Amino acid sequence: AAHREGKNQILFFEPSLTERTQKRLTQESEILLAIEQRQFTLFLQPQVDMQTHQVLGAEALLRWPQRDGSLVLPAEVIPLAEELGVIVPLGNWVLEESCRILARWQHQGIKLPLAVNISVLQLLQQDFISHLKQLLVQHPIDPGKLQLEITETVRINDLEQVLGLLRELHDLGLSIVLDDFGMGYSSLNYLNHLKCLPIDLIKIDKSFIDGLPQDDAIVRIISSISGVLNLPIMAEGVETDAQRDWLLQHGIRYGQGFLFAEPLAREAFEARFCPPVQ
Ligand code: C2E
Ligand code: MG
Ligand code: MG
Ligand code: MG
Repeated sequence: AAHREGKNQILFFEPSLTERTQKRLTQESEILLAIEQRQFTLFLQPQVDMQTHQVLGAEALLRWPQRDGSLVLPAEVIPLAEELGVIVPLGNWVLEESCRILARWQHQGIKLPLAVNISVLQLLQQDFISHLKQLLVQHPIDPGKLQLEITETVRINDLEQVLGLLRELHDLGLSIVLDDFGMGYSSLNYLNHLKCLPIDLIKIDKSFIDGLPQDDAIVRIISSISGVLNLPIMAEGVETDAQRDWLLQHGIRYGQGFLFAEPLAREAFEARFCPPVQ
């Protein structure tokens, strides 16, 4: 009887499994086709010195424009691409497009750096470094202008490997940014590793900036960690004057957020933040 039940179960589940597999295959080929047809685009959001109002650089953020004019956001694309195993081609497109933007800027005399988000899955690919080197040969840009934003949620198992990779990237001249700081495994042991890491900037996650100026405990802690590690910090998701004022009063000068500008299409960003070079 048990045998028959088992069989029945398999028969019962089979149609829905097939449906799921088919849906995944459709989504996978949709993303791959969108890469091939250059449907994706990068929006740019300025990063500013909140004290002087100077634009210091831009972060590239993935957008997928749809026929109806709407934009699919990374929250819908990135986790899906990671799950489906297409984050590498997608991430490679993002990196190459970023190099193209930097090459164009260099040609136009625009000196801003560009920060690019890198999925840890992408970073852990065998040929990530050699692929990046190849890109830098194809697009002769100042590697110091390319900043890689890595989200802090690295699994402890991968920590050693990630540390080695970050050192290699830094030796290539790239800047390394620790994104969404405070959201991941901030164990004291991890902080000890950070001390010997070639990190150039820590970004405080928006969720902690949201609480300012009332709930300031975590931002104070992160600020003191950055002091101990002697690393600059940037606040993400600054939306109000009160948040900016609190940050400036507590020695945090760099910020990114809707208070300064939303992510913009490249042309709009350049029109607003890159005055023509004399
Ligand atoms: P992130 O790297 O922490 O980027 C900051 C996110 O906060 C962006 O969301 C940005 O639009 C949003 N943001 C900035 N200022 C404000 C603000 O004042 N208020 C609010 N409400 N939001 C603000 P976005 O573009 O939806 O991207 C979400 C996340 O997706 C990014 O977080 C990043 O982790 C990931 N992502 C984006 N583009 C890429 C990409 O090309 N590759 C990879 N691997 N991940 C990406
Ligand atoms: Mg980022
Ligand atoms: Mg972030
Ligand atoms: Mg964030």
